[in-house]
Amino acid sequence: MEKEAKNMECLSKISKSTGLAFKDESKDNLRQRSTKQNETNGDDITPSDMMHELYERSEEFVHKVWDKVPCWSVVHHSMLPQWLQDNEYLHNWHRPHLPSFAECFKSVFKLHSETGNIWTHLVGCIAFIYVMIYFLSVSPIVFEEKFIFSTFFLGAILCLGFSTLLHTLGCHSESSCKLFGKLDYCGISLLITGSCVPWFYYVFYCDYISKIVYISMIVILGTLTMVFSLYDKFGTSEYRTMRALSFVIFGMSAAIPAVHYMSIMDWNDQVNTTAMQSVFLLAFLYVLGAGIYAARIPERLFPGKCDLWFQSHQIFHVLVVAGAFVTYYGLKELAVHRNEYTECGVVNIPLTSG
Ligand SMILES: [Zn+2]
Repeated sequence: MEKEAKNMECLSKISKSTGLAFKDESKDNLRQRSTKQNETNGDDITPSDMMHELYERSEEFVHKVWDKVPCWSVVHHSMLPQWLQDNEYLHNWHRPHLPSFAECFKSVFKLHSETGNIWTHLVGCIAFIYVMIYFLSVSPIVFEEKFIFSTFFLGAILCLGFSTLLHTLGCHSESSCKLFGKLDYCGISLLITGSCVPWFYYVFYCDYISKIVYISMIVILGTLTMVFSLYDKFGTSEYRTMRALSFVIFGMSAAIPAVHYMSIMDWNDQVNTTAMQSVFLLAFLYVLGAGIYAARIPERLFPGKCDLWFQSHQIFHVLVVAGAFVTYYGLKELAVHRNEYTECGVVNIPLTSG
């Protein structure tokens, strides 16, 4: 009860702070105008200007002190509003409702049930931005292939970025929880679509019809999954299994072109088999991640023991990042192979110097 009272006090402070922050903008304009006037009219400072200045300084001081003091504390699951009660097996360490974006962003550096979820995908997102810039600037592949590769990088970066935003801003309000939840699901569809497009491009490098058919298929299915995930009901807790299943089915639709490719590929070719191994490893990681996410293991087995670390959602996040890196490795191997042994002659520049 003490915590609840403290958080209520904190919430009212945050609301006031947000209001003041808004007022500050107009005061900045006033200050600029007053400075301009002083420049043109000389140094005519009236007592009311001085009072105004004094008021502003005291307000700035209050803001500075306020910023240094973390006012909210973590709460029990039962104290969360309905729209934040997602996983009842995580008992403590939840952030309360924080109706200020600044407070939500500051919470990235505090310890609570979402800290692990935020950092796993924030680090992954930054890593993929770095890998994309490095790969696109260093690789000698032609523009068309860079464009195809970029669909994968953009899918991975948007997926990890939207997820980071959801876990950071989800406690701001019910509407932002819903909005960023939808973007999070769209991000997963973008990652799957972005991973499949370059994969189909390289495995059916010389088979133009198959390449177009499979790329179109995955883009249409990806768009449908994104539209489906925009429905409000899709984001609710009751639809958790349905959500996991829809993404697994969407991801597994890539099995059709995979079986097609395995029936025609040269199994003695080391690069082909390495690329196929990475696809199997990727499928295994995603299915495992979706299974853990839907079953909420290990917190279901140890309620209240995984509130901070090793909760199913964090494991799912790590598996998504691992899967994305496996995809990158497999695609790079395929690109090297296609560029070294070009049968249908689009380009013929080896990716590696050796
Ligand atoms: Zn997540």
